[in-house]
Amino acid sequence: MHRCFLIRNADVILTMDDGRQEIKGGDILVRDGVIEAVGQGLYDDDAQIVDGRGCLVTPGLINTHHHLYQTLTRAVPGAQDALLFGWLKTLYPIWAKFGPDHMRVSAMVGLAELALSGCSTTSDHLYLYPNGARLDDTIDAAKAIGLRLHATRGGMSIGESAGGLPPDSLVEREEDILNDCIRVIDAFHDPNPGAMIRVGVAPCSPFSVSRDLMRDAAILARDKGVMMHTHLAENDEDIAYSLEKFGCRPGQYAEDLGWTGPDVWHAHCVKLDVSEIELFAKTGTGVAHCPCSNCRLGSGVAPVRAMRDAGVNVGLGVDGSASNDIGNLVAEARMAMLLQRVTYGADKMSPREALEIATRGGAKVLGRDDIGQLAPGLRADIAIWDMSDVEASGSWDPAALLLAGPMVVKHLFVEGRHVVSDSWITTINMETTLASQARLLKGLMDG
Ligand SMILES: [Zn+2]
Repeated sequence: MHRCFLIRNADVILTMDDGRQEIKGGDILVRDGVIEAVGQGLYDDDAQIVDGRGCLVTPGLINTHHHLYQTLTRAVPGAQDALLFGWLKTLYPIWAKFGPDHMRVSAMVGLAELALSGCSTTSDHLYLYPNGARLDDTIDAAKAIGLRLHATRGGMSIGESAGGLPPDSLVEREEDILNDCIRVIDAFHDPNPGAMIRVGVAPCSPFSVSRDLMRDAAILARDKGVMMHTHLAENDEDIAYSLEKFGCRPGQYAEDLGWTGPDVWHAHCVKLDVSEIELFAKTGTGVAHCPCSNCRLGSGVAPVRAMRDAGVNVGLGVDGSASNDIGNLVAEARMAMLLQRVTYGADKMSPREALEIATRGGAKVLGRDDIGQLAPGLRADIAIWDMSDVEASGSWDPAALLLAGPMVVKHLFVEGRHVVSDSWITTINMETTLASQARLLKGLMDG
């Protein structure tokens, strides 16, 4: 794409800026990866034109929780109908066969899937490193496809022989986990505005690492100035485990070990109680809400209405593709809206609020003020949705993006780069990527 382009005559631009401006017949001028102007009747001699007629324009969506490697383990028979702990125990032996190629190719497919659903920034939580796999494999995939990535270096240290859930072959020594965190932060983390790659520290969950590692990981992250992420309070089993092993609820455990603050975000939080919601609000601790995964694993409905009303930062996550099993972020926003309505009533989560969670909410959770809205000076992460096609035709209002469709974006720009054009990934060869994925899948199935 030209370094300067003008999106012209969009039906509506939902800017999600501080005033929540909605601009009919709107234009966006982009130069060198940054939004220069948003308004009507814009003009620039140099600009290449992108026709916005018939389209809704939104900020690129932001995904705050994923395990990209899991796109190679969708719909695994033994894990289809299991609860969380049984689901994990079915999948661990398959994941133990993964290596660098599995990590890179599955990430490429997962990132492509996200991009096609309008997602321009994603976090990833990689907590197992079998057979020479490294975080570098996922980062390579993101660089190739051109999505913004917050890669988190996870880890598990308590294997079956020590009373944990994962097989011993998937756990690492805590010292090795921390040393590799330092390596990947030093190699890849970019703290600057417009960063395409940031790195975080992310022990898998309180039930797969020790109290010491949780605390040391927090100290390391703060020393390095990076963010921290883990799974928390996902379901009833999770709460019971915390009460039995730690003698406290997950919120207390997190607080005791330094795992609250604006530099921390926790996935799921389905079972946070009123005092934990207050704690998260008071400390600026973020939540990655994963409604489809919570449905799929029967975990429950996260109290997002209560969290938002209390002032908790909430973003959306598709979660890994072994527990969703799709990675479509606009569909996730729709599910977030619907689930809150099931619990609280049809007037308690509007399409615009769900879209706000998927954009501004995600940016806040990931500690970014340079993305998540369309305004001058922000990065040019822009999703363009065709509202004239079958799924949305007949719609009266842009709320149709979540109440109706489409589920595939027409154009997606990330840092001004045209990653999706006419609903097709432009940056990598999808056919060869899918062929590689199929070959790796066959290898896993054959044993
Ligand atoms: Zn997860």
